Amino acid sequence: MTDFLSTGTLPDEYRELALTVRDFARQVVAPVAAKHDAEHSFPYEVIAGMADMGLFGLPFPEEYGGMGGDYFALCLALEELGKVDQSVAITLEAGVSLGAMPVYRFGNDKQRQEWLPQLTSGRALAAFGLTEPGAGSDAGGTRTTAVLDGDDWIINGSKQFITNSGTDITRLVTVTAVTGQTDGKKEISTILVPTDTPGFVAEPAYNKVGWNASDTHPLSLTDVRVPQENLLGERGRGYANFLRILDEGRIAIAALSVGAAQGCVDESVQYAQEREAFGQAIGRNQAVAFKIARMEARAHAARTAYYDAAALMLAGKPFKKQASIAKLVASEAAMDNSRDATQIFGGYGFMNEYAVARHYRDSKILEIGEGTTEVQLMLIGRELGL
Ligand SMILES: Cc1cc2nc3c(=O)[nH]c(=O)nc-3n(C[C@H](O)[C@H](O)[C@H](O)COP(=O)(O)OP(=O)(O)OC[C@H]3O[C@@H](n4cnc5c(N)ncnc54)[C@H](O)[C@@H]3O)c2cc1C
Repeated sequence: MTDFLSTGTLPDEYRELALTVRDFARQVVAPVAAKHDAEHSFPYEVIAGMADMGLFGLPFPEEYGGMGGDYFALCLALEELGKVDQSVAITLEAGVSLGAMPVYRFGNDKQRQEWLPQLTSGRALAAFGLTEPGAGSDAGGTRTTAVLDGDDWIINGSKQFITNSGTDITRLVTVTAVTGQTDGKKEISTILVPTDTPGFVAEPAYNKVGWNASDTHPLSLTDVRVPQENLLGERGRGYANFLRILDEGRIAIAALSVGAAQGCVDESVQYAQEREAFGQAIGRNQAVAFKIARMEARAHAARTAYYDAAALMLAGKPFKKQASIAKLVASEAAMDNSRDATQIFGGYGFMNEYAVARHYRDSKILEIGEGTTEVQLMLIGRELGL
C-alpha cells in the first residue's frame, strides 16, 4: 500500500515529525487504546509520553518552552494520533489549540510567562470553556456572568461538555462570561480561571458514546473570585477572540478526522487481504475493493482540504471558509469511513476491542464538536455572501 508520507509531498522536517509521531502512536498509544476506552480512563502515561516528545509545545516559540514549530506540524501529529486513538488525539488538540493557544494569542506578557511554560510542557492542561447548557452553536447566548467587585471578577454560571477540564493535571479553564452591555448588546469577555479557585467545580464526567478516554465535564462556577488582571485580551472581545480560536481549531479537528478516516482505510485494507469467505480474500470482491477505494478517496480529499486551510492560515491569508470546508468534509469522511470499515469487518466490526468499532463510536462527535456540520454550512454560505 502506498502511504501518503512516502509520496514526497511534504518537506523533510514535517515528514520526519509525522513519522516520529506515527511510531509513537503504533508503539505506545495503540496497545492501550482499547483498555482505556473500555475503562473510560484518562491515559496519563500516554499523555506523559507525548509531553516528553514536546507535542504540547509544537506550535509555540521556544521562549515559552515550545518546539518552535507551527500549526501545520500540530495538524500532522493529530492526523497520526487520530489514526489509532481519537481520545488521545483530542486531548492534544484541546490542550494545545483550545487550551494554550488563547493564552498565546491574546495573553499579555505576564499571563504568557505564568501559564505557557506549564502548558507547553504538557505537565499541565488548560481547557476552553465556551459551551453552556443553553448556548452551543449559538455561543453568543452565554449566560455566565463576571462582575467586578473591587479588583476582582466574581464569576457565576455553568459550562457544558468541556474537554480536559477535570484531569489531575488540569490547572486552568478559560471561560467566556458576560461582563456588561455595549450598545444594548451583551459584552462578552474571556477570563482565566485557575481550577483551584474556590467555587469552581468540575462535575462528574459524562458517560459518552465515544472518546471514552478523553476527559469531558460540566463545570459549575459559584461566586468564583479571580483578580481583574485575569481578563484575557480586551474586555468585550472575548467572543470574537474565541471565534478566531475556533477557526484555527477546525483545521486541527479536520486533521484529526483525516487520521480517523485513514486509520479506517488502513485497517480495512489489511483485513480485506486476510479475511477469507467463499474461498478467497474478501478484498477480491469488487464490492469490497470499491468500498475501500472510495474510503481512500475521501481521506485523501479531506487531507488536501486541511493542508490548503493550514497553508492559508500560515501565510496570514483569510482561511475561515477553507477551515470550515476542511472540517466539514473531513468529519464526514471519518464518519463515512468508520461506517464502511465496520461493515467490512462484519461481526468483528461490532466488537468494541476492534479499532474500527472504536472509530465508529468516536467519529460521530467530529460532526458535532467545534461547530456542527450545520454551523460549517452556515459559515461557508456566509462567506459566499448568502
Ligand atoms: C465530547 C465533547 C467535547 C466538547 N468539548 C468542548 C470544549 O472543550 N469546549 C467547549 O466550549 N465546548 C465543547 N463541546 C461542545 C460542542 O462544541 C457543542 O456541543 C457543539 O458546538 C454543539 O452545540 P450544542 O450541543 O449546544 O448543540 P445545539 O447548538 O443545540 O444544536 C443542536 C442541533 O441544532 C442544529 N442547529 C443549531 N442552530 C442551527 C441553525 N441556525 N441552522 C441549522 N441547524 C442548527 C445543530 O447543528 C445541531 O444539529 C464539546 C462537546 C462534546 C460532545
